[in-house]
Amino acid sequence: IPVDDFDLVIFGGTGDLARRKILPGLFRRFCSGQMPAQSRIIGAARSELSDAAFRRDIKAALEEFLPKDSFSAKEVKAFLDQLHYVRIDATGTEGWGALKKLVRNDKDTIQAFYFSVAPSLFGDLAERLHTNKIAGPGARIVVEKPFGRDLGSAKKLNSTLRDHFDESQIYRIDHYLGKETVQNLMAVRFGNMLFEPLWNAQYVDHVQITVAETVGVGGRGAYYDKSGAMRDMVQNHLMQLLCLIAMEPPSHFDPDAVRDEKLKVIRALDPPKRDDIVRGQYESATDGKGYLEEVESNDSITESFIAMKLAISNWRWAGVPFYLRTGKRMKARTSEISIVFKETPHSIFDKDSGRHRNILSIRLQPNEGITLGVTIKEPGPGGMRLVDVPLDMTFADALGPEAEGVPDAYERLIMDVIRGNQTLFMRGDEVEAAWSWTDPIIEDWTRRGERPKPYDVGTTGPEDAAVLMHREGRRWLDIK
Ligand code: NAD
Repeated sequence: IPVDDFDLVIFGGTGDLARRKILPGLFRRFCSGQMPAQSRIIGAARSELSDAAFRRDIKAALEEFLPKDSFSAKEVKAFLDQLHYVRIDATGTEGWGALKKLVRNDKDTIQAFYFSVAPSLFGDLAERLHTNKIAGPGARIVVEKPFGRDLGSAKKLNSTLRDHFDESQIYRIDHYLGKETVQNLMAVRFGNMLFEPLWNAQYVDHVQITVAETVGVGGRGAYYDKSGAMRDMVQNHLMQLLCLIAMEPPSHFDPDAVRDEKLKVIRALDPPKRDDIVRGQYESATDGKGYLEEVESNDSITESFIAMKLAISNWRWAGVPFYLRTGKRMKARTSEISIVFKETPHSIFDKDSGRHRNILSIRLQPNEGITLGVTIKEPGPGGMRLVDVPLDMTFADALGPEAEGVPDAYERLIMDVIRGNQTLFMRGDEVEAAWSWTDPIIEDWTRRGERPKPYDVGTTGPEDAAVLMHREGRRWLDIK
């Protein structure tokens, strides 16, 4: 079903994110018939390019970033015909007149402006969209991470954007929220009678959230070294996942009802104790690409790994630890949330049949899907022996070819912008609350000059991360 007619301007249309994610995502939506024929996508960036050259570049990007046989030359040509380009200077006057001519500003056309540029340019863009009378009253703007580097800068960014746009017009992207499984998590939790009654301290032992990457900082070393895992991953992505797991059921699946509940979770997070946090930094004995080599600094104390135990101070979660872990150059690339239920209170079976517990795992990548571990009798004549087996809801298996049509996070989120649905976007007060919680932790490390613990590449992080669990008789689930 096509969305309503729109004009989408991508500031930074020649950049890495636009080429790798935004335009391939839009192309896939185009191929599935969602983009109206008269809608325009306008790339706006600093390079001097004609429409034809921009289209050539985007064609190359589609070929590079999408699977080879997933589209036809005819589809590419039809999509490129809807693309335009304007050379623009975000901080000057060049290009704004041309942009005004291209972007329709009438009540029948949805306007969206994607700020895929450095955050330092957001204010300039917002101001020029207004002074040049390009953005109409219903215009939407989309902003990327990082949304600030602490509470002060996030507040400043929010206030810059709000000088020109209302909160209802601002779409702050966290692409983790665009994943099919993340929405499925809400469907599973609130669409079944089975889970919600168990979703609390009485039945849940603990929750684990792991986002592990195999890549290092690579070419982003200079940027990353000023950020670190806490700012780059925990404050936004892991925090958002934690909120969705821990929040109370919203009264409706609507943007403010969901975001109000998420905000309450952030506000209920206790400040973690020092010994509930393990910071790490990867080392490589083999390829010369340890963290310090990659960022070209011998004394950087920025963490590329963090594991922490968090507590949520409310009735639902009293005494239930939430363990978060994320890092670079780990043994596998995986993003997974696991709800580990308590053991059955009493076993009626032989002692050696063991005690069993259910684990609900929500996998964001690879192979998005949800698995529920249940205990059954081991088949065969060997007596009453128990085994744990997964009830597997991997989308590719359960849905067959239909799963291939599942949109990627960026596709979904961009279409949500056009539809005007903010449910999967972070609200300004959520982002600020997350920084309010994060800032004192980072300030404490900085004040003490705390060095992260080294860990070997290809592992699960520093040994201390395992100890964080072991000391309480728990263990991290395997990263695979
Ligand atoms: P990039 O450096 O590849 O591209 C920057 C773009 O901005 C280019 O198109 C450039 O022409 C344009 N630009 C720069 N200065 C300009 C000016 N004065 N006037 C007009 N245009 C100007 O950056 P990127 O990697 O595409 O990242 C864009 C934004 O998205 C950043 O805020 C980044 O933090 C964020 N982001 C990127 C990724 C990613 O994977 N690349 C992931 C998450 C968030």
